Amino acid sequence: MSGQKIVVLGTGGTIAGTSAQAGDNIGYTAAQVGVDELLAAVPGLQVLAGGALVAEQVAQIDSKDMDYAVWRALALRCAHHLKDPQVRGLVITHGTDTLEETAWFLQEVLDTPKPVVLTCAMRPASALTPDGPQNMLDAVAVVLAPGAAGVMVVAAGEVHGARHVQKIHPYRVHAFNSGDAGPLGWVEEGRVRLVQNWPLAQVKYVHDAIENIANPGEWPWVEVVMSHAAASGKAVDALVREGVQGLVVACTGNGTIHHSLEAALSRAQNTGVRVVRSTRCTEGQVLPKPGDLLPDSQGLSPVKARVTLMLDLLRAD
Ligand code: ASP
Repeated sequence: MSGQKIVVLGTGGTIAGTSAQAGDNIGYTAAQVGVDELLAAVPGLQVLAGGALVAEQVAQIDSKDMDYAVWRALALRCAHHLKDPQVRGLVITHGTDTLEETAWFLQEVLDTPKPVVLTCAMRPASALTPDGPQNMLDAVAVVLAPGAAGVMVVAAGEVHGARHVQKIHPYRVHAFNSGDAGPLGWVEEGRVRLVQNWPLAQVKYVHDAIENIANPGEWPWVEVVMSHAAASGKAVDALVREGVQGLVVACTGNGTIHHSLEAALSRAQNTGVRVVRSTRCTEGQVLPKPGDLLPDSQGLSPVKARVTLMLDLLRAD
């Protein structure tokens, strides 16, 4: 049975950011405050968690700089703590910029029925009205919610599943949504009101994923390219010459691609590069048609399709 301990893994971000002036919500430096200090600054958090809150600093970065070394360390620490029967679930503090990518990465690699809740802030810890403390309280409330399972993002009172969540605004506090899918639910005064099922661990990629990730070798090189007016195939040809192993195309509309870019992608595919189509539209997904030459991302956004393709290639190595 699940235990009562909640482990909070700190990775940095604006939630741990500070600025010289309290009123400055953009001129700050991310990843300055340790996760211990962040927890200590949230009134009522220890009480809500029942006193068993354990903090661990896994990284201290601006999440725009997220890299494979941090993902590897984070996934391994998550797997380690999730195995502990005393641990009820995890909270991860993270920057907002690449939050959805880390959430999807963890959803793909962690094989657990326990909740893993990422949270963040749009305003630094030193702001006049920081959003981090409430988000932290809400994240702990989600871990404690009966039946909570899977990788989620909690921000601005909303609970989102890793599959659909996207950062959709560069400034406002309400910066995330899940497009057509909508949020899984809300946290209201510490209570979770769920309108969709909890997201469970994926079964497709989890087998041996952690072992693959623990391996200190290079991870496959996968890039995102975009189709747009006057697109050419030059960037794709150059990437193929440099040894790229996978390409995700952020296509126009329903998976359509400028003919010059498409020709280059077809050449790339013929040389063994894996190519996947996603859409640059922020809602909906590519609807496949008979005879499509390039597979679609099955509803994943370009950046999440990149994660999945990278993990596919990692398994195939
Ligand atoms: N650049 C910051 C980060 O992602 C932005 C934020 O956290 O809101 O780490």
